[in-house]
Amino acid sequence: MHRFTRPRKALVEELRAKGITSEAVLAAIGTVPRERFLDSALAQRAYEDTALPIGMGQTISQPYTVAFQTEKLDLKPGDKVLEIGTGSGYQCAVLCAMGHAVWSVERHDPLYRKAQDLLRALGYRPQLKCGDGTQGWSAYAPYDAIVVTAGAPVVPDALLAQLTLGGRLVIPVGDTETQRMHRLVRVAEAEAREEVFDGFKFVPLVGKHGW
Ligand code: SAH
Repeated sequence: MHRFTRPRKALVEELRAKGITSEAVLAAIGTVPRERFLDSALAQRAYEDTALPIGMGQTISQPYTVAFQTEKLDLKPGDKVLEIGTGSGYQCAVLCAMGHAVWSVERHDPLYRKAQDLLRALGYRPQLKCGDGTQGWSAYAPYDAIVVTAGAPVVPDALLAQLTLGGRLVIPVGDTETQRMHRLVRVAEAEAREEVFDGFKFVPLVGKHGW
């Protein structure tokens, strides 16, 4: 058995115990090799439920957070997903493993390049670009779901505008220290229904409609 198979299964059970119920999300986390998204020195910690450094002052999100955000996207087969904040590429890989068409934007060129190479090597086929994700990615809009993986000061209007009617946006909003998770559903052309969940900590979303 591969040395990470057992800890990966244990992580899935830990996430289930912490309240994640989506079998599609849990199954995807059960297949994506999180150790590959970390420096080899950190690989042995890949299946701890914790955020870890990935360079450029950024972090790979805690697995619970990835699972929570992905579950809140309420994805259906065939849904198109936009991610803001590719970082290591791990969240992106989870979305690809669930069978979705994925677009993802990262503002740091070295992270973008590294994620591009790694995701290709692992056989995932998202479309990535380097740029300011607070403005979304209009060329491929609308999306059924958008997930932002860095903490925002406000919900960028540009992201809501790139959702389908019925589309979901999951985004941490708050100050630079802590954020609450906001889930918005675009219910009409210029109207969104919003729910808020507590207690998350992300690196800052930096950009035109960010910090
Ligand atoms: N989803 C990532 C989490 C990375 S941390 C993972 O699974 O590893 C959040 C990332 O958002 C960082 O890499 C940071 O550089 C990026 N980011 C911050 N502001 C951004 C912006 N305006 N546009 C795109 N990426 C941004």
